[in-house]
Amino acid sequence: MGHDAPSASPSLAAHFEPMSLLETLSDAAIFLDASGIIQYANAKAATLLGVEKQELLGKIVWQCAPSLVTITLYQAVHTALYTQTSFQVEYRSPVTQAWLRIHLSRTSQGVALFFAEDANIQRRHDLFRQSTQWYQDLLENLSEHVALLTPEGLLLEVNPRSLTAAGVTREEVIGKPFTQFPLWASTPDIQEQWRVAIGQARKGEDVHFEVEICTHTGQDIVLAITLTAHHDINQQVEYLICVGLDITKRAYVEEELWDLIDAIPHFVWIAQPDGTVIYNNRRLCEYTAMTPQQAQGDGWSTSLHPDDRQHALDVWQAAIRTGTPYEVEHRICNGNTGEYRWFLARGMPLKASQGTILYWAGTCTDIDEQKRSEAALRQSRERVQTLMDSNIIGIIVAEDDIIVEANDTFLRMTGYNRDDLRQRKINWVQMTPPEYVTRTQQGHQELALHQRMTPYEKEYVGKDGSRVPVLVGGVMTRLNPHQAIYFALDNSARKELEQRKDDFLNMASHELKTPLAVIKMRAQLARRHLEKQGHLEVAATLTKVEEPIRQIERLIGDLLDVSKIQAGRLEYTYESIDINALLHETTEIIQQMNPGHAIVMHDAGPFALVGDKNRLEQVFINLLSNATKYSPPGSTVEVACDISAEAVTVSIRDHGIGIPQEQCEKIFERFYRVFDPRQRKVPGLGMGLYIVAEIVRQHGGTIAVESEIGQGSTFRVTLPLHR
Ligand code: ADP
Repeated sequence: MGHDAPSASPSLAAHFEPMSLLETLSDAAIFLDASGIIQYANAKAATLLGVEKQELLGKIVWQCAPSLVTITLYQAVHTALYTQTSFQVEYRSPVTQAWLRIHLSRTSQGVALFFAEDANIQRRHDLFRQSTQWYQDLLENLSEHVALLTPEGLLLEVNPRSLTAAGVTREEVIGKPFTQFPLWASTPDIQEQWRVAIGQARKGEDVHFEVEICTHTGQDIVLAITLTAHHDINQQVEYLICVGLDITKRAYVEEELWDLIDAIPHFVWIAQPDGTVIYNNRRLCEYTAMTPQQAQGDGWSTSLHPDDRQHALDVWQAAIRTGTPYEVEHRICNGNTGEYRWFLARGMPLKASQGTILYWAGTCTDIDEQKRSEAALRQSRERVQTLMDSNIIGIIVAEDDIIVEANDTFLRMTGYNRDDLRQRKINWVQMTPPEYVTRTQQGHQELALHQRMTPYEKEYVGKDGSRVPVLVGGVMTRLNPHQAIYFALDNSARKELEQRKDDFLNMASHELKTPLAVIKMRAQLARRHLEKQGHLEVAATLTKVEEPIRQIERLIGDLLDVSKIQAGRLEYTYESIDINALLHETTEIIQQMNPGHAIVMHDAGPFALVGDKNRLEQVFINLLSNATKYSPPGSTVEVACDISAEAVTVSIRDHGIGIPQEQCEKIFERFYRVFDPRQRKVPGLGMGLYIVAEIVRQHGGTIAVESEIGQGSTFRVTLPLHR
């Protein structure tokens, strides 16, 4: 059959309706225009499709003839339109399964199709079918969802799996816009996705996207869709191939994975190859108090500490540029508290097999604690170093007697050098002068017992033999029981100052002593002279002058003694003394001077002791004067003597103001006075007990005090009977 209008004579044509001819044909005839709209269909065609003839006219063939539409037919029409040729194809109706032969002819407006059932081709095709069965089988058994669409998006073919999922028959959907496929017919978002995807695929792009849909049995499934165009030999898009991969399981597993990633204590992020962050886990969002949308892109960087931000961004940009792993430390603000914590940010480029970066995946780990302890360690090291570098304090580390480490100050003080140190030549025991050995040993006993040593004054013998006055203290190191750290403060300046003060006191007291002696002598002479002349009243006035003179004399005497003690020149004359008698004498003197106090002496009977009588008298006078000075008038002072085979202990007890516990040792130091408002009015220079302690020490004895504030004090002097 031709595809142009039949060429009949005009007269015949006047009576003859050419189309009626077609009605008689045993073949089904359908005329389509270029866009596939049915312009004509004969009665047989209507029968074949099972519809009224009128229903077909004006409709797109793919939409109203599902029983005819197959990909073969679609391809054939497509070919006829573009190649202008007439040809035949044989194909099987997807509905009736009958074999059809179609003759296609190009018409001026489109294509004429003539369908003829042909039993002969049945056999031939059965053979052929066997060879093409794989295609059918594939389509039917394919576990994926497959559909073929016209470039406009009308469904040409769809596999059973998709039909089952949608709960529809092939006829119900073939030829209809795929956007209206029942699986998403009521989901405008997905329909829009399809519309866009079809548009892109029509232009030749491969389109990938995922859709989450609900099957007609109510099962939620996730499909990964790929939409690609099939081109004919003229490179025209012939139809679109659509494959939907069921990734429900994968999506589920992925979802679980994401849940896991969300929950891990680290921050996790994913970025595109250009550095745009597309995912941040829940932890990061919770910490920064940002929504996932706020943290995306480069929003995350706003939570970085302003001081760290630029550096972190520079490192990140460099990593993106070079494709090398990203690693940087920076602080991130806790959006809920406003506090910053240190994090270690790391990122790895994830690459495709050919090496292009697909995306970046990274983490941020909280290293704040680590940073803080590092900083604390650094600070403490710096502090120790500063101390070591100090040019005031000499610092040494000693293992037993050998100094193994020393700062420059110590080396400068003692004249040693680093070589001596390396060769372990510096031995602090050998550097101790003989007179300080006992005190040094005491210090080290204390160190061994209490792990620390109360600072005390001593001297070191320097490398050149010169003496260096120092104040030393120390602590044991925790890790090594043989190792201790000592500090040595150069005491030279203080010692020098003290020396000058001593020199001054020595000179002043000597200078005062002579004129005072002259004044005293003249006053006595004048008094005697006046008494002889009978001016007794005036003579009595002069007597009153003698008492202050005696006080000044005592003061000068003390000053001179202190100077002598300092210079090691206080002299002693030893003889046998009866201590009991000596105590009686001194008690009487003090009682006379302080009639308001009751001084009670518990007699111990005579006994002898070798000592300097004047000096020991000075000791007891001092202690008894203090007892009366620091106790209220009317109170009692008790003097007792305890004698053993070895020693005698004299105790002097008052009921006065008492001495604070922590100052009981200090009162024996030179010029030391207790700072107490109650004794502010009591005159004194803090020399008495210093002289007393020195005299007792020179006699081989000891002195100690027990006291309670407001209750009184007891001084105990113990002197050995045999020296
Ligand atoms: P002075 O009495 O001249 O101040 P001392 O050396 O004799 O100097 O005494 C030192 C300090 O000890 C005194 O200033 C005082 O604070 C304290 N002290 C000495 N004896 C007593 C005592 N019996 N009761 C209370 N405090 C005392």
